[in-house]
Amino acid sequence: MRFDRDFTHWPIGLHRVAEDVYAYVQGNGPYGNAGFSNAGFVVGPEYVVVIDTLGTNSMHDGFIDAIRSVTDKPVGLVIITHHHVDHVLGTHRFMPARVICHRQCRAHIAAGRDTMVQRWRSMRPLLAPDLDDIPVVVPDITFEERISIHLGERELVVFHPGLAHTDGDAAVILPGDGVLFTGDLFFNRVCPAAFQGSVKGWIAAVENLLQLDTKVIVPGHGPVADRTALAEMLRYLHLIQSGSEQAYAEGLTPEEAFARMEIGAFREWFDTEHRLLQDIQRVYESLGQAS
Ligand SMILES: [Zn+2]
Repeated sequence: MRFDRDFTHWPIGLHRVAEDVYAYVQGNGPYGNAGFSNAGFVVGPEYVVVIDTLGTNSMHDGFIDAIRSVTDKPVGLVIITHHHVDHVLGTHRFMPARVICHRQCRAHIAAGRDTMVQRWRSMRPLLAPDLDDIPVVVPDITFEERISIHLGERELVVFHPGLAHTDGDAAVILPGDGVLFTGDLFFNRVCPAAFQGSVKGWIAAVENLLQLDTKVIVPGHGPVADRTALAEMLRYLHLIQSGSEQAYAEGLTPEEAFARMEIGAFREWFDTEHRLLQDIQRVYESLGQAS
């Protein structure tokens, strides 16, 4: 799909992040960064493991071309980091691969399989022409806390960090390589979207991710990064959590909290304009449930 503006803003396409390990990075689109997520893959001795499968048909084509530019081995396994459409809709292109995700992620995909494409078309009409004929694949293998994939000498540890971006998030670490694929636990230079998860849980999850021995971190959105950039996002989450708690205690509405929230340079991120209020509302919901 082609748009007549350059929406990229950072190096996109294929990035080799370790031997036989690749990140596939997308830029932005007509809705800011929304819908333009990242994926990755690891080439094993017999087959390829894919991490996330992107959203629209042309995105799937681009990703598959990138895999084929590196290897002609079949894709044997797909790991899905969470159920959001922009991370899962290309899965059918890799069938009959096995598909692994967290138990809750599978439950969301199973519940939404007949409606999720149509809902995305209505929400993002400019992407609709690129969403034809996409069957939703429900993953066939689930885990609760962690599962390891042994790919030759290499181990891929897929783990659930607790309630964060969603209740079914998974991250993938390759301990021998210091490479971490976070899915949407990490938005780099893009405002994190907490509409389904918990900002507090997300803070705890990121604090744990920062303890891991990593050299390269592949975010769910935005350019390939390292711990410094992940720590920046953590600072935003802390600001939102504490600013919203304070405003809630003062009896302000989420809109009033939004109006006075000082987030400095985070305003320069993509999608902050509409996500900041959503993120504040999410903290308010959690405080309302707690009281
Ligand atoms: Zn997401």
